[in-house]
Parts: sequence; C-alpha cells; structure tokens
Amino acid sequence: MSERGAAGTNDGDRDGWSGSAETAELAERAHLLDRSDPLATTRERFSLPPGLIYLDGNSLGALPTAVPERVAETIRRDWGQGLIASWWDAGWWEAPQRVGELIAPLLGAAPGQVVVGDSTSVNVFRAVVAGWRLAQQDDPGRTEIVVDDTTFPTDGYLAASAGRLLGARVRRAHPTDVNAFDEHTAVALINHVDYRTGRRWDLPAVTSRAQRAGARIVWDLSHSAGAMPVDLDRHGVDLAVGCGYKFLNGGPGAPSYLYVRSELQDRLDQPLPGWSSHAEPFAMEADHRPAPGIVRARGGTPEILSLLALEAALEVWQGVEIEQVRAKSLALTGFFMECVDALTEPGRFRVLTPRGDDRGSQVSLSAPDAAALLPRLADALVVGDHRPPDVLRFGFAPLYVGFTDALRAARTLARVAGRRDVTAG
Ligand SMILES: *Cc1c(COP(=O)(O)O)cnc(C)c1O
Repeated sequence: MSERGAAGTNDGDRDGWSGSAETAELAERAHLLDRSDPLATTRERFSLPPGLIYLDGNSLGALPTAVPERVAETIRRDWGQGLIASWWDAGWWEAPQRVGELIAPLLGAAPGQVVVGDSTSVNVFRAVVAGWRLAQQDDPGRTEIVVDDTTFPTDGYLAASAGRLLGARVRRAHPTDVNAFDEHTAVALINHVDYRTGRRWDLPAVTSRAQRAGARIVWDLSHSAGAMPVDLDRHGVDLAVGCGYKFLNGGPGAPSYLYVRSELQDRLDQPLPGWSSHAEPFAMEADHRPAPGIVRARGGTPEILSLLALEAALEVWQGVEIEQVRAKSLALTGFFMECVDALTEPGRFRVLTPRGDDRGSQVSLSAPDAAALLPRLADALVVGDHRPPDVLRFGFAPLYVGFTDALRAARTLARVAGRRDVTAG
C-alpha cells in the first residue's frame, strides 16, 4: 500500500485539480502533511467504506477491524460453549475494571480509578449525585448544583432530575464565568468540549475555581477524551464521565466510563449501587456493603457484548501517544478551516469553532441551509452532521482521517454550497 493509500487519502484529487494556484497549493500541502503524518497508518486499524470521508467520529466512531471477530468469538465460544462459567473463565466479571484500565491512560489516570458500564447518561446521574453527597459530607449546608449553560442536553436533563430528587437548586452558569461557583455550590457538571461549537473549556482553571469554592467537580469528557490529553490526576479532578462510542470507537451504545479519584473512593456514596458493586456479590446479603476501590462505582450486571466490543476497539491505541493525536487534531481542524476560508464564497459559512487551541476535534460552521447541505455532502461521500438550528459539524478523528480528506471535504462543501469553479474531487 502506498503511503497516501495507507492514510486513506484520494490520489485523484491532485491529478484532477482545476482550481487556482492558491488551491493547488493547498493540495500540495495536504499531500506533504499526509506524508509526514506519524499517525498515517493507524487508518488500517479501521474498516471504513472505500472512498468515504467520515467526519462524524465525534458522534459514532468508525469500526475497528478487530471488533467483529472478537464479538463473534465471545458469542460463539464464550457464551455458546462456556455459558455461565465464562463469567470467570472468559474474564467477564472483571471486564468493567479491565476495560477501565485500558481507557485510564487516555484520561491521564493512574490505575484503579476508572470503571466501565452503563450509558453516559446513567453515569452522569451517578457522578452528579455522588459528587453532591461527597460535598454534603464536608458541608451539609450546600444547596446547589451548577450545570454548564452550553451543556449537551442529556446532562442538563439529568442534573435537573437529580436536583428534584435531592431538593437542590439547579443553576446554569457559563464555564468561563469566574463567579460560577460559590459557598452554596455542592457539585458542578461541566462538558469539556461544547458539542455544538467545538469550543474547549479550560479544565484546570474551572476545576480549581469549583474546588476553591468548596464544590466537587464532574467533567463530561465525551467530546475530548481520545482526541486530546485530559490529565485528570494532574488537575485533581474529582469525578469524570465520558462516552465509549465517539472517539473511543466502541460501537453504537457502547458503555461509558466513570472516573473516581482514588482519595475519594472510600467515601463514595453513589446512587445506583448493585450487587456487582458489593464487597461480596455472591454472599447475597440484604444490605449493600460497598466493595473497596473503584469496584464500588459499578452497578448491576455488566453489558458484556458491548463491553468486550469496546475492549477490542481500544486496541487501536497501541503505540499511539495521545499528544500525537492532539497535535494532528489541531493541525487537521486548522487546515480544514483554512480550506473552507479559501474555497467557499466569503460569508457563505460562519466558523463557530475557535481558531486558537481552545477547541476540540471538530469544526462547526453555521449557514441558514445547513440541514439541506448535509444529504448533498453525503451523496458526494462526505459525512458530517447537523445540529439545530443551523450548525454543520465536521468531526476529525485523527486515527483515521487525513489532510487530503480534509481538503476534499472542503472542496465538496464549496461545490454543494454553490461554487461551480471548485471541483468536488
Ligand atoms: C454523546 C454525549 C452523551 C451521550 O450520552 P448517552 O447516554 O450515550 O446518550 C452525553 N453527554 C455528552 C456531553 C455527550 O457528548
């Protein structure tokens, strides 16, 4: 396979080029960037339809090639033949912690602090209530849950429901607001990257503001982990949750992860315990006695099939440094914005994503006809998504998207948005 083939890029682009000198220069740069990309070959670890430029990995990550066989084997051999013994013989029972240890390096977490299971929504609820209870242990007078006012909807819904259950006031605050937290705040729930604009908030600064006010902090890393370092231990984060099926490529409905800082684990009083978080699950005791360590953050029976699909998916990270991923992510999204500037009519799209490094791994553009452009992009084999009312989102997963892909996507966008002098590629 040629280097550019390995990077999944399309050679025809350069040869068929009919644009201006400026756009020919972009094509040359894309080519050089792909050639010097240390992550160019990780695309071979995924099965993607040929010719497709998939820019929606921030919503549903691509399929890693190791997954289908692993899932088939788990079903045929471990379920079909091993049956109940597979809980021990095939390592099912320990899988939530084992898969947690595979995710931990991506989060900057030392061992023993991450467990996998249940949806992100469920773990948001678990973490917010657990954070509330930790805060109450120190100061029972605290009355408030603070939620990021740009939050992904599910987080806001769950915080509101937790607030009703706990008798807490739920207040919305902007992540940059230096007065967001005060002596009333028990727990704060903040998204690391704004799913709509792609803006990245300052995790260390917000964490220390919340903690200085005496509050516990919960980060939702769904749009950051797997695309950039998050360094949870280094920044003293209390609790964090995130999605298994976006940049972690675990497949539709993959279980999510929950991080609980070591020092807090003995005091953790989570709202959804189950027999699998019990110190002696098979003693079948009437009362819940929490297991030591991160196991006490588990709930009921783990969702083995999707958990083991996620485990196989995490093999794509072997030999990959998250710093390399971040460097490529910034370069890719920056290059895509540059191509959009150069190739689309001035004023046709407004770039919502920050141009500085305060961004995640997506580029969001607004245009009144955003929803109508999406199927036309898909017809030309460029997949992005749309968020109401007028936002087009393009997610760049550095493990399987290249620079020539970014250029081809921008050219296609320029074409479907009405420019006739730019070939779609
Ligand atoms: C994708 C995402 C979720 C998804 O939660 P589910 O329970 O998997 O539906 C939650 N929070 C954020 C910030 C997300 O980006």
